[in-house]
Amino acid sequence: MDTHKIPQQDEALGGYIKRLRLELKMSQNELSRSAGIHLHSLGKIERGITTRLSYKTRHLLARALSIPTEYLEAVCKKEKISPQIACIKFCPRCWIPGTPTEPIWDDIRSKHCFLCGFELMSHCLKCGRSVISFQHSYCPYCGFYYKNTVDKISQTSKTLKKKSYKQ
Ligand SMILES: [Zn+2]
Ligand SMILES: [Zn+2]
Repeated sequence: MDTHKIPQQDEALGGYIKRLRLELKMSQNELSRSAGIHLHSLGKIERGITTRLSYKTRHLLARALSIPTEYLEAVCKKEKISPQIACIKFCPRCWIPGTPTEPIWDDIRSKHCFLCGFELMSHCLKCGRSVISFQHSYCPYCGFYYKNTVDKISQTSKTLKKKSYKQ
């Protein structure tokens, strides 16, 4: 799990979003474009004026910040992230869906696959929900095939290179 991405105790929504944005070295402008939400709305969230997010905003922000939507839900409700939500990671290249994952991927310090060096994932790239079971090959929430994460990531990096944030 990416522990630094988990909301810290007593962290408010605004501060949390800002912290993640700065970690990604993004300006407010860049994040608002990449998420597809208004700069004005993002500013209000970061300043703590907006403390509740609509389902859509939560979804868009989680995707832009590459965190599971549950993290944003938890921070809005001031709840702690349950360890269950944060513990499963996999390599989209090496993992065969439906089989157990390599225990080393779950290690807190692992960020990349020890076999191929690909970035480890812990949530569905389409809907942002955490991967909670390896019995599934498809995301139970949106039907995204987990193995397609590899394609999805390469598509995203191409899009970023072209500086086009429209999808
Ligand atoms: Zn791998
Ligand atoms: Zn999904």
